Amino acid sequence: MSTPGNDDGNPGAEDTGTRVGGTGTGAGTGTGAGGGSGSGGGRSMDAGFFVAWFEEAAGLVRRDRDRLTELDAAIGDADHGTNLDRGLTEVVQALAGSPPESPGQVLSVAGATLIRKVGGASGPLYGSVFRQMGRSIAEPVTLAGFAAAFEEGVVALERLGKAALGDKTMVDALVPASRALALALRDGVGTPEAFELAARAAAEGAAGTIPLQARKGRASYLGERSIGHEDPGAASSALFLAALATVAAGGPGPAAGTAGTAGTA
Ligand code: ADP
Ligand code: MG
Repeated sequence: MSTPGNDDGNPGAEDTGTRVGGTGTGAGTGTGAGGGSGSGGGRSMDAGFFVAWFEEAAGLVRRDRDRLTELDAAIGDADHGTNLDRGLTEVVQALAGSPPESPGQVLSVAGATLIRKVGGASGPLYGSVFRQMGRSIAEPVTLAGFAAAFEEGVVALERLGKAALGDKTMVDALVPASRALALALRDGVGTPEAFELAARAAAEGAAGTIPLQARKGRASYLGERSIGHEDPGAASSALFLAALATVAAGGPGPAAGTAGTAGTA
């Protein structure tokens, strides 16, 4: 556990879950969230899509929990995998308990839950990303809207953690992902492919933390000894993006059953 950065305000204590608007129009009429609508274009980004994102992310983190914890054992305190696994399990439960009606609400619930339930620095940091995304995201969600909200989420993270690219943190996976989305938009790439590119950029960014020396967080205490290890938070960030790509491609994750969408037949 530690407080992200040396931030004086305690992260995430203020404005918990405040969300304006988003009163459950459920992103139009949900173009059949099950992926039935033209696999080339991917599924519509309604509330169910975002729930599926967190479910898929929870599954990947569960699968890779020990690897994440081993990465954190090398340069931290060996709790990142268990921290995130616990947090995302809580997120999935919270979302299942009272399914939010809009993408913004899903993101806000996820962010607030991570802040509350994850003991380590990564809880408030991820929480700030998702809460900011929840505040920013325009609905119905388009790729451009997602990319803009994601960028704002990453900016919120950078502000909270006071980390920049190259400091060997989750920023090193999330910023490349955000840039990849912006490039994909510029190039007119379709949604599933754009998320695939973002996932690849995040994975490359995470791998790129190996030769870096940590300048933020617990790993920074190790100085040069932090060199030669992948940053655990960057590794888990790559999993979030991988989950997004999977869900956008119509992969695992329940397509129906969240409020506000028409669900599938
Ligand atoms: P803790 O370090 O409190 O045990 P975790 O192990 O859950 O928390 O998360 C560690 C990860 O958090 C790091 O690998 C790094 O990616 C991220 N992190 C830590 N401090 C910062 C920071 N100031 N800014 C951005 N990310 C950070
Ligand atoms: Mg740790």
